[in-house]
Amino acid sequence: MRTMISGGTIVTESGMYRGDLLLENGKILQVSTHAERKDACMADTQVIDATGRYILPGAVDIHTHMDLDVGIARVIDDFYDGTVAAACGGTTTIVDHMAFGPKGCSPWHQVQEYHRLADGKAVVDYGFHGVLQHVNGQVLEDMAQIAREEGITSFKVYMTYDDRLDDLDLMKVLCRAKQEGILIASHCENHGIVTCFRERFAQEGKLQARWHPVSRPSQAEAEAVSRLLYLAKAADEAPVYIVHLSSGMGLEEVRKAKRAGQKHFGAETCPQYLLLDDAMYADPQEGLKAIMAPPLRKQADRDALWDALAGNELDTVATDHCPFTFAKQKQLGALDFMKCPSGAPGVEERLILLYSEGVCRGRITLPQLVKYACANPARVAGLYPRKGSLEPGADADVVILNPETEWTLTSQQMHGASDYTCYEGFRLKGAIERVLLRGKMIVTDGTFIGSRGDGQYLHRGTSSIV
Ligand code: MN
Repeated sequence: MRTMISGGTIVTESGMYRGDLLLENGKILQVSTHAERKDACMADTQVIDATGRYILPGAVDIHTHMDLDVGIARVIDDFYDGTVAAACGGTTTIVDHMAFGPKGCSPWHQVQEYHRLADGKAVVDYGFHGVLQHVNGQVLEDMAQIAREEGITSFKVYMTYDDRLDDLDLMKVLCRAKQEGILIASHCENHGIVTCFRERFAQEGKLQARWHPVSRPSQAEAEAVSRLLYLAKAADEAPVYIVHLSSGMGLEEVRKAKRAGQKHFGAETCPQYLLLDDAMYADPQEGLKAIMAPPLRKQADRDALWDALAGNELDTVATDHCPFTFAKQKQLGALDFMKCPSGAPGVEERLILLYSEGVCRGRITLPQLVKYACANPARVAGLYPRKGSLEPGADADVVILNPETEWTLTSQQMHGASDYTCYEGFRLKGAIERVLLRGKMIVTDGTFIGSRGDGQYLHRGTSSIV
């Protein structure tokens, strides 16, 4: 059985053209312009009419936190709910960041835990980033072994929080990662800056949500981004990836390293840092919805990040999808923002927000959208061109986007288990109409029709940043 997606406009990171897509056995068999299509049409071909629609590669989100256990709370989306939301938003591949395991555990502990959480549940294809929460010789051996045996070719480190790594540990990780061709993804915030303000605000009773962004200023991000890049440079230019870049000040450090000729690094931002700002913290209740780290910044930071996307200075847009319920879980922070579980939903909203707020408003082009949400994330994760591309031989992961639909985003329309979205009331242009995963339709007219457990574990290759 073949499927032909006919009559639409195919969008790749290098351009757009009217054409047809022929799918067979879960792969893309042929991409053709209308003139060639007769050859490809056969009796047993199911035809999907995509007239007036855009045809995009299935989107790739390389920063999610499904079923994350943060101690005080557990993310409300498990790998089923969270990947249904992903699918409905046009994301057919996720690479999930693991929670920390018990103190002192081997990195293998969470690898096994995450297979238990995801296998048989996920409805889109999925991989994992490993996590390093302390460093010794065995941990470094395990990292190399996990990369080889599990195809987990990237590991995350944190420069803040209790399980942060200090510079010595970071150097040991980076030197080994360089040798092994492993990408190190880093949460960049200076722990001293953040802790100093949190201690002071606790003493002064500054416990409302509006103090959250003040406690994690842009300097904390910029210093850690800069330090990470210098450490990586010192470690024979080890490959590093800055997750969720949020500030203009952090962006300047990225630019500085680029100007200095450093090559083996990449940077990611997220829709919340492009579309929301710290005005959201003014109301003590509404503000809880956006308690996340790093925090939302200023309008000027949003503008700087859009400019960087327009100018091809960043690599990816991911989500940091980390949903809690507002009615219950986020209320843990009602009297003290420091007790609020950190994170917000976003996996379903990303692609359509980038289309409506990015492309339709002229901030980025449609090919750039494909680059940031599909192709580059796949490259960074070592999945390209199997994922994030519409080239023959790629997995037949396809999004059909209707540019004519106009609608208002509300949390009721979202498919995740959380009870809110930070983008409530956004007027949007365009809708994710249909989604195919390896040739199988899993979303039609915005309704999920796939099956629990149909997502496959992705044994990933080497990151393009290496
Ligand atoms: Mn995260």
